[in-house]
Amino acid sequence: MPYEGEHQRRATGPLFESYDMDLDAVVARIRGRAGTKSVGLQFPDGLRDYATEIERILAAQTPGVEYVISADPSYGACDLALNLQRLGVDLLIHFGHTEMPSINHLFDWDVMYVSARHKLDVGPVSAAGARKLSERTNGGKRVGIVTTAQHQHKLHQMADAMKREGFEVFVGAGDNRLAGLGQLLGCNYTAGTSIEEDVDGFVYVGSGDFHPIAIAWGTDKPVVLADPYSGEVRTLDEVMDRLMRQRFAAIQRAKDAKAFGVLVGTRVGQERMRLARGIKKMLEQKGHEAHLIALDFFSWDNLQYFRHLDALVNTSCPRITTDDYARYPMPMLTPPELEIVLGKRTWEEYAFDEFKGTKPRPEERVVRL
Ligand code: SF4
Repeated sequence: MPYEGEHQRRATGPLFESYDMDLDAVVARIRGRAGTKSVGLQFPDGLRDYATEIERILAAQTPGVEYVISADPSYGACDLALNLQRLGVDLLIHFGHTEMPSINHLFDWDVMYVSARHKLDVGPVSAAGARKLSERTNGGKRVGIVTTAQHQHKLHQMADAMKREGFEVFVGAGDNRLAGLGQLLGCNYTAGTSIEEDVDGFVYVGSGDFHPIAIAWGTDKPVVLADPYSGEVRTLDEVMDRLMRQRFAAIQRAKDAKAFGVLVGTRVGQERMRLARGIKKMLEQKGHEAHLIALDFFSWDNLQYFRHLDALVNTSCPRITTDDYARYPMPMLTPPELEIVLGKRTWEEYAFDEFKGTKPRPEERVVRL
């Protein structure tokens, strides 16, 4: 039994100590779904290490049900393992991300989303974030909170900590690419822009630059990162300066390009074929050569066969363009960046390539917590 100890450690280990994941609800869904014989399990990288342990827990309570684990990367709810449906899987359990309602009409399958809700106390770091924002905005007291699915259930704790220090707190609803209030995706900051007029700036409660970069790019208001894991509190100013320089360089490099590849992502929530067709047409009208290139997994290994082209325009996940640019030896642009190259937009009108939902979320636009 060489692996039993490892499995035991994982079952009671850091995942379940740090996160609430409602596996009881998963069991209830499987038991209550008539005729369910096979269940797919999909995890983001950070949780896939626990996949077999979670299967063991579920299987013990659902005898006779087969489980199939997807080993492919999963970057968001935009990226559902729909390929498991062809294997005869009846129901997909997608862990670690919240539902993306705007894509539900694009597939005909049963999907259950299971968030990993972090148990961390976010109060002290939220208050520190609000203080930093006030310092950055010369005494501003109106704070917009944005966060990720891991901490969204703690919006009240964040707001209470800020209000105790005299701040006025707002949370936006955003559009239906988002599952809840105040949620930020790497490609969608509508929960922020919906309250932009009401606040002096934003405090992002969460870790890493990936999510707050989106809102820092999308609004003119300052953004402060308040990391509940490390306690780090800082503005995004320096990071954004660096990114803007990188994007400027990519645009400059693409200015002499003649032949373009227009990339279309085939993952269900990353596909923008209509936009890609429009871009191809626009390029051709300007006398350029343009090819529509569809792919599931973005990598230079897959794209190297198009190295004779001069530049790429990516209509899929915008963060592939802005964050992974160093992996591609040729310039890769977002659609708004291409407009700058073609003279349809000025550098001063630079815009982030936001991936919007199809309609506003039903809640009020602005919520005062
Ligand atoms: S940033 Fe990219 S991976 Fe994340 S939700 Fe948006 S499209 Fe998906």
